[in-house]
Amino acid sequence: MAEWKNGIAKLTLPTPFPVGDVHTYLIKGDRLTLVDAGVKTDEAWEAFRFQLAQLGISPEEIEQVILTHHHPDHVGLLDFLPASLEVHAHPLNERWVNRTPDFAAEHNRFFAGLYRTFGVPESFYVPFMQRMAKMLRFSCNRPLTGYLHENDIPVGLHDWRVLETPGHAQGHIALWREKDGVLIGGDVLLAHISPNPLLEPPHPGKLERPMPQLQYNESLRKLQKYPVSLVHAGHGEDFGDIVPLIEKRLLRQHERAMKVKAMLKQGAKSPFEICQHLFPAVYQKELSLTISETVAQLDYLQSLGEITIKEDEAVLLYAAK
Ligand SMILES: [Zn+2]
Repeated sequence: MAEWKNGIAKLTLPTPFPVGDVHTYLIKGDRLTLVDAGVKTDEAWEAFRFQLAQLGISPEEIEQVILTHHHPDHVGLLDFLPASLEVHAHPLNERWVNRTPDFAAEHNRFFAGLYRTFGVPESFYVPFMQRMAKMLRFSCNRPLTGYLHENDIPVGLHDWRVLETPGHAQGHIALWREKDGVLIGGDVLLAHISPNPLLEPPHPGKLERPMPQLQYNESLRKLQKYPVSLVHAGHGEDFGDIVPLIEKRLLRQHERAMKVKAMLKQGAKSPFEICQHLFPAVYQKELSLTISETVAQLDYLQSLGEITIKEDEAVLLYAAK
């Protein structure tokens, strides 16, 4: 049953994805604010309206939406809400939620090029990219009406501040309420799983792709400095005491990377070969998740100076130092 607790109400919505349910949050402020919106499915919409009704609220009463990041399970349902509704997020989400043919072309060029240099056969990545494009039916298509950056206080939410927490998505933010240490974290930190450091095309006007695992680790270290008492996460349980959880996550990631380094001591490999070794059972079904998890470890090892990259071939080859 949806209920208010300290000015926050959690609404739990189904998704068709392996991650399961997604949580969205209503914040009572000078503006009734929804943080994130579930996927664009009739089931999610029905669950959303049902739980709003338990709170005595109709969808039209929501005055603004803040997005933690652009993934379909956090934005799709926006298409069911009035077009006049204000939607605020970090600007790097704009191109994903308000897709243009230009960005679609840029996106496809980037990933086709990336997969080629990672050694993924074309016969494999082309059908995969076509399947991914179909997943966009669960997302939304509408412009943002306002941009949020580090330290911004969102309109109508005097108690809350924006913390930029890139990694899982380039434009990922969390909302921080200093007076009682509550964090609405999106997917930055989840109790049961580590979010995937998903690859994204270079930022507008930039040439190099971001290195999301390095950004993610920095976001975790940044959060460790905040006296967080409670995290309302995008998936799974609420939790507190984030310092040991973050230590555990950073350590596990380091261990995963060192296993990759040990594998590379046997000989240089392309990212796709490493991916096949790491995820023999899943890489065929989940190319983007398994490749980004693989590249995460390679970017991390590269940042530590533990590996070298041979770039003179069409395919990148990674070797242990
Ligand atoms: Zn996400």
